[in-house]
Amino acid sequence: MRGGRGGRGNLHFATATRQAPRFSEDGEKGEEKEIILELKLLADVGLLGFPNVGKSTFLATVTDAKPKIANYHFTTIIPNLGVVKTKDGNGFVIADIPGIIEGASEGVGLGIQFLRHVERTRLLLHFLDVSGQEGRNPVEDFYIINQELKKYSEKLSTRKQIIVANKIDVIDVENSKELKEVENLAEKEGLKLFKISSATKQGVQELIDYVSETLKTLPKEDLIDIEDKVVYTLEDKQQDWEIKEQDGVFIVTGKAVQRLMGRVNIEDNESMYYLQKSLKSMGIEDKLREMGVKEGDTVILDDWELEWYD
Ligand code: GDP
Repeated sequence: MRGGRGGRGNLHFATATRQAPRFSEDGEKGEEKEIILELKLLADVGLLGFPNVGKSTFLATVTDAKPKIANYHFTTIIPNLGVVKTKDGNGFVIADIPGIIEGASEGVGLGIQFLRHVERTRLLLHFLDVSGQEGRNPVEDFYIINQELKKYSEKLSTRKQIIVANKIDVIDVENSKELKEVENLAEKEGLKLFKISSATKQGVQELIDYVSETLKTLPKEDLIDIEDKVVYTLEDKQQDWEIKEQDGVFIVTGKAVQRLMGRVNIEDNESMYYLQKSLKSMGIEDKLREMGVKEGDTVILDDWELEWYD
């Protein structure tokens, strides 16, 4: 009889005539793993700040990166990376982490994906717009972003930060209320402050030199950072089944069985042989025998109904 979903078929567990299987042969015991590789961008320096504070402009100024620069929010969806070439030949990588917004750590908006990229940076340049053009309060912004960081990752929130007061080309440096407040903020928080203009490059070189020197004092992350999360090994998956007996019918369920049946073509002999071998190696056959399965009994594997045949 043919097996099939909802149909019936014979399940042979031992036949004298079985030929050497070509489909699945017991070889050396190996290990099969399913892993998720998460490749994170690895940057030395991350640029933090609300949209439009001038991060992309800065990146374009100091590196070869050609980020999109536009005067509207959430323009940059993919973090831009750029290499800064320093005088001493020790370049470093800057990543523009765009779009951190309030609530980002809870996955609101686009922020969470970007936070993941900033996680590995060694130093954060926290950009604040002191031009007043966007109508933002740079001091409030600073705390909002840091709150987000903290919610997302304690570790990240302890990263060394440098405050960058940007867009000083359009302010009266001596009398700017915003700049004064940012200066007070930097003092209060004990953070180094740089006043720059990404647009005119004023103060930019000093900042780069300082960053370059600071990086030398900070431990380097591994060059390749592949976080491999072992979701489950084959062995784990093989355990993921159970058998229930109901009115003489043996019902085998679980992820392992689902997965196995998904690979089996019940019309194909070799495939069926593979199924039998798998049931044996997974311990299902032994368990069925232990539970008293006998010839003619119905065994349901996932949603396949088969007849036990010794
Ligand atoms: P991001 O969203 O933080 O990456 O900001 P952008 O780099 O895209 O800049 C947003 C807007 O601010 C653009 O119109 C830029 O031209 C402008 N901008 C950036 N830096 C400066 C600066 O130093 N001075 C002035 N006046 N405008 C700037």
